[in-house]
Amino acid sequence: MKIVVLGSGTANPHPKRSSSAFWLETGSGTLLLDIAASAVHRLAQERLDWGNVDAIWISHFHLDHCAGLAPFLFGTRHAAETRERKKPLKIFGAKGLTELVGTFDQIADGKLLKQPFPVEIVEVDHLEQFQLLKGLTAISISTPHTDESHAIRLTDDSGKTVVYTSDTGFRKDLATFGKEADLLIIESSFVRDKKTEKHLELAEAMYIIRHARSKRAMLNHLYAEWDEVNFRTEVDKFSPGCEVIEATDGMRLTI
Ligand SMILES: [Zn+2]
Ligand SMILES: [Zn+2]
Repeated sequence: MKIVVLGSGTANPHPKRSSSAFWLETGSGTLLLDIAASAVHRLAQERLDWGNVDAIWISHFHLDHCAGLAPFLFGTRHAAETRERKKPLKIFGAKGLTELVGTFDQIADGKLLKQPFPVEIVEVDHLEQFQLLKGLTAISISTPHTDESHAIRLTDDSGKTVVYTSDTGFRKDLATFGKEADLLIIESSFVRDKKTEKHLELAEAMYIIRHARSKRAMLNHLYAEWDEVNFRTEVDKFSPGCEVIEATDGMRLTI
């Protein structure tokens, strides 16, 4: 499985970190984990085959995770890259996703869902297991961030596993959910002294990584306060039990 970090940051504009989006290439096809508005440009910048993306996972409805749906679908209507496309684009997310896409569609005068290819919207529940793509099994759990926010665990048919927490407050069972993942993509919005219960700070992210015993972990959704510290020095204060890397825009990983 290949992973490209399109956006390692948050909703706050930042010179080096665009908002949340990850591109995954699996044996079953390609998908996006979240699609911030900035992701639409970033896909092209990274020269990814965005016209053939098979599925999009929306972790929650904060705009730094889903606002790219509107410009993406606005662009795919007439792009050379999608003109011949017939296979469906599946968009997955929590209950309310159909209404959200419907609202974007209304703003765009009903043009977003008139595509050369079918668009299928699939709403999933807490602890629901589903096939995100054929051969790519997914399970999602709700997280303490918004009413609809979910973390997702993906396993391909070779057994490789990626877990993406997206934005979340602290919840011990995220460690169980991330158990032995080949890559645990976990938010660490704050270095310490977090100002809200709806996000994680480093010590909490490290607790989850250590107890999950993941093979590798990647911290993302980093607020600008991370620019004031040395990432490696902060991470080395803990014993995560595996390699912990800092998500940066454009980073490419293979698991
Ligand atoms: Zn966010
Ligand atoms: Zn959020």
